[in-house]
Amino acid sequence: MARDHDHPTTSGSWRRWPRRVLIMYLGDGMEYADVDTVYHAPLHPYTRGLLNSIPKLGLRPDEELEPIGGAVPSLLERPTGCPFHPRCPEAIAGTCDTVEPPVVEAAPAHLVQCHLYTGGRS
Ligand code: SF4
Repeated sequence: MARDHDHPTTSGSWRRWPRRVLIMYLGDGMEYADVDTVYHAPLHPYTRGLLNSIPKLGLRPDEELEPIGGAVPSLLERPTGCPFHPRCPEAIAGTCDTVEPPVVEAAPAHLVQCHLYTGGRS
């Protein structure tokens, strides 16, 4: 995960600048948007998996985290198609395992690299 550097706006306030975050997997950008959007309305299955695996305040002792299934593949044996497809619960057989998804603007200023948001244009 990488974050843009914060910059002051012309008003000089550091808080007004929309902080953006880039979610990465195996060296590829998967999702890019402002922090609030990624945290509260993630689109990419990997981002959702990451957020589901984070302990939350108020977690009961009997509640379990939901880790992302599988293991991170070796960079030397990078999967074909979408690099996340072997672990993705929403993978589309015959597409995600063969075709690299394009980066699309799924919502204003919200970029995602996933076949679920290409509208059949992959
Ligand atoms: S492109 Fe396919 S495998 Fe990759 S994250 Fe999207 S649905 Fe999952």
